[in-house]
This record gives sequence, structure tokens and C-alpha cells, in this order.
Amino acid sequence: MKFILSEFSEGVRVPVEGFYDPKAIEIEFPDMIYTASIELRGTAEKSAGTFRFQGVLKTAVKRTCGKCLKEKSEPLSCNFDWIFDVLDKESIEPLENVRELLILEHPLVYRCRPECRGLCPHCGTDLNDGSCNCKENGYHASPVIIKKVKSKKERNHGKS
Ligand SMILES: [Zn+2]
Ligand SMILES: [Zn+2]
Repeated sequence: MKFILSEFSEGVRVPVEGFYDPKAIEIEFPDMIYTASIELRGTAEKSAGTFRFQGVLKTAVKRTCGKCLKEKSEPLSCNFDWIFDVLDKESIEPLENVRELLILEHPLVYRCRPECRGLCPHCGTDLNDGSCNCKENGYHASPVIIKKVKSKKERNHGKS
């Protein structure tokens, strides 16, 4: 997507749209795959010294939940309002802004939903589907495991 500045009249806001192929612009993460092209729709306006492009970016992604490891596909849409400096420029290419926006949309740890309970660290059961017996057996939280091992050792020590 490229805006040729000479094609725009100063002070006139015009509708614009463009597409990017996510495979071509290197924005994928191992846990975030794009399943649709990146669409940008909005308006552009050239003024003295600046070029403003505002609108909505739409795409779709498949992400892996950092807690339960399930994959989830969902549409992604974000608003943007970019102002470019046009001094000594003949055209504007918003690719860097698109990259930046999409990187911000990639959380450090993605969760399929805010209340995702994740997997049991002991037996691997998906706790969203139901609970396992580990909690009752005292294996659920790691501090409990440490306590148990310690007391077992102490017990053995006392016996010998
Ligand atoms: Zn999850
Ligand atoms: Zn378990």
C-alpha cells in the first residue's frame, strides 16, 4: 500500500483502502498466525507538511493460548490514526505503522479468554473442561508438593 502524494489535493479527505499479505511482511509469531489478509480502510488527507491516514485495520488470526495451549481463531480489528511527515517525500508507505500496530496486538502471553484456567501442572488435564483429582491429593500447587516431599523425607529419616 502506497500513497503517491501528488495524487492528493491539499485539504481534501478521500476514502482509501489497501491490503497486505501477512506472509510477505514478516509479522507472524510462532503462536500467532494470520488466517486472512490485512485490510486497511479509511480516509486520507494531505495538508501542508503532513499526511493523515485514519481508519480501521481488519484481519484474522489463529493464536495459541499460553495457559491451556488450545488454538483459537478470531477476527482482529483495530482503529488507527496515523500522521506522516511529508517533507521531501513523494510517497507514503504505512507498512512500518502496520507492523507496529500488529506487534502491539500480540500479547506476551495470550489467553483464549480472561478466565482460562489452563492445564493442571501435575497431570495436564484441561481445567476448563473439568477438574482432576490432583488438588485433593495435594499436588495442585507447587508449594504443597515441596511440603509433602519434605515431610516424607523427614519421616523416612526418623524411621531409619
Ligand atoms: Zn486457554
Ligand atoms: Zn491434575
